[in-house]
Amino acid sequence: MVEQQLVNRGIKDEKVLAVFNRLPRHLFVSPEQQHLAYGDHPLALEQGQTISQPYIVALMTESLKLSGREKILEIGTGSGYQTAILAKLAAKVYTIERIPSLAAAAEKTLKGMGYNNIFFKTGDGTRGWPEEAPFDGILAAAAPQMIPPAFLDQLSPAGGRLVLPLGAAFDQDLALIVKNGEDITRRVLCSCRFVPLIEP
Ligand code: SAH
Repeated sequence: MVEQQLVNRGIKDEKVLAVFNRLPRHLFVSPEQQHLAYGDHPLALEQGQTISQPYIVALMTESLKLSGREKILEIGTGSGYQTAILAKLAAKVYTIERIPSLAAAAEKTLKGMGYNNIFFKTGDGTRGWPEEAPFDGILAAAAPQMIPPAFLDQLSPAGGRLVLPLGAAFDQDLALIVKNGEDITRRVLCSCRFVPLIEP
């Protein structure tokens, strides 16, 4: 998976590649799908949600340029796979999932694996996690039409990085936003297809 899907497509960060090599992805998928866990595609979770293709998880992770000291906000815990990757590469991860059964399953998986730097919340992530802001990085795994203002407000002005899919169903851009003081830059990394971010 790592050589063919990540290195061949340009993922270079050695720390990111090492984490993908070590983290067992099959622990995050249903028993029926375990033989597909390392394939080059997204996989189904319950309730119509998906665990992203490994390459997209790697691209989003790499774009946050993590050194190990960061405080990260993740919207859309899903299976917890992306959460686990972030928790290996950053200091603390705050993750929000709106579907209670998915949130509970991911928390059980991750706690069972011994993570103690992940903080869980069940509910709407579009308002972010104001009590814990600012965040050095924010990653959303579901697509809003426009960037929720809370994400920009809660992003650190000292080079905070936000990565998220943006746009309508089936036609989205994976965008990277970097905030320096009042200055906000935006770049498109690729086109992508995520489940919609459910907005209240
Ligand atoms: N990163 C996950 C992918 C999860 S798919 C993984 O690796 O498995 C996106 C998730 O975002 C879904 O579980 C969906 O329920 C959740 N989601 C959608 N809208 C949300 C919202 N407003 N707040 C929190 N989570 C949301």
